[in-house]
Amino acid sequence: MKRLVILGAGESGFGTAVLGKKEGYAVFVSDKGKISDKYQALLNEHNIEFESEQHTEEKILNADLVMKSPGIPEKAEMVKKLREKGVKIVSEIEFASWYTDAQIIAITGANGKTTVTSMCYQMLKDAGLNVGLGGNIGQSFAFQVATETFSHYVLEISSFQLDDIETFRPNVAVLTNITPDHLDRYNYELQNYVTSKFNITKYQQEGDVFIYCSDDEITMENLSRYPTKAKMIPFSYDKEVAEGAYVKENEIQFNINKTQFNMSIQELGVKGRHNVYNSMAAGIVGSVYGLRKEEIRKSLADFKSLEHRLESVAKVRGIEFINDSKATNVNSTWFALESMSKEIIWIAGGVDKGNDYKVLEPLVKGKVKAMICLGVDNTKLHSAFGKLVDVVVNVHSMRDAVRMAYQLGKSGDAVLLSPACASFDLFENYEDRGKKFKDCVYQL
Ligand code: ADP
Repeated sequence: MKRLVILGAGESGFGTAVLGKKEGYAVFVSDKGKISDKYQALLNEHNIEFESEQHTEEKILNADLVMKSPGIPEKAEMVKKLREKGVKIVSEIEFASWYTDAQIIAITGANGKTTVTSMCYQMLKDAGLNVGLGGNIGQSFAFQVATETFSHYVLEISSFQLDDIETFRPNVAVLTNITPDHLDRYNYELQNYVTSKFNITKYQQEGDVFIYCSDDEITMENLSRYPTKAKMIPFSYDKEVAEGAYVKENEIQFNINKTQFNMSIQELGVKGRHNVYNSMAAGIVGSVYGLRKEEIRKSLADFKSLEHRLESVAKVRGIEFINDSKATNVNSTWFALESMSKEIIWIAGGVDKGNDYKVLEPLVKGKVKAMICLGVDNTKLHSAFGKLVDVVVNVHSMRDAVRMAYQLGKSGDAVLLSPACASFDLFENYEDRGKKFKDCVYQL
């Protein structure tokens, strides 16, 4: 029996353990942190051996194969030891893909992954396909491969999941865009992050499809460096493309496999330039799978904005409160600021992942009347925006942030929580940050 050791007992670790057991491995799960009660109970239920809050070296280094959870960095002590010993380490999506023949639609990028993944899933499901949704959303891909019989999977894939792949081959891959993010995990080298994103197409074969944004500078600069066998289909806001999707006079023009149709931007269910991009990407996926144009149009028109993504929470005294807590990098905040037509009171800050705020300057200058810095260390925000914005204040809790915003605002303004930073200094995660924001708004 081959020994499969799983480092990290979150959703992907648990799913891999269940699938590994089903496929005949001797499975051992080890987590340096505390395994949550939920996963301890699930592991027990499935009779899977595990340890919490420790790594027992003898039980790990004897592995034939290791699955490392995406949250564990390469510099973790145990990972270094495994690498030294030459033990094979794969990610959950790599492992799970060995055990399914289903069609795989894989979506990656710096921003828009969850949105495009949800759009594609809904569209294919409404068209009657037997489709599963996984990756970073909901249940892990591995768990579903072990327990379901889907013919198609739509998967949201982070760069960390793409770091440890060696055969993973999506039939359809989408790269939404590339902007600097998570550089702390990539030795502050953008190229390392780019390489990991392009892994999505590395093992694609002829007959597969690679969908990308031809307006995205970093993608375009790198296309020729990462050759693919897949058919390449671009989407663009600015330029006409021969095959793919682009915008002309406020209409998206789709042209895929000789099928042409258009859709007005006004009809899209979600607003903002970034969502035009996301809708184009999802529409191309639908077309590739032969969906009728009416099905694609209806699905894109019906799609509703997801929680924590430019989510309009409430209007209080004429001031609109918008929750964009999921904006954890500069690029997503750029799109949020760009999409606003009101004067903005901007709540930003948190854990800086090596941000360069320069690109935000013109938008901030033109649209932001006050800035509320919500982080443990706000010095970088002050030096970036202190001279551009009349009012810049520091707060250390969401309650103070929302109250301060409310005091500074007047009817017709928007209060936008779009932090451009990770949330771990003051919150558990971006969901916790967004929920607290909403609670505080409801209490006004
Ligand atoms: P991801 O899963 O890649 O983090 P989401 O779909 O959850 O992406 O969106 C994350 C944030 O980025 C949200 O704040 C959203 O408003 C913004 N966003 C969504 N799509 C795009 C895009 N195509 N380009 C830039 N920003 C985007």
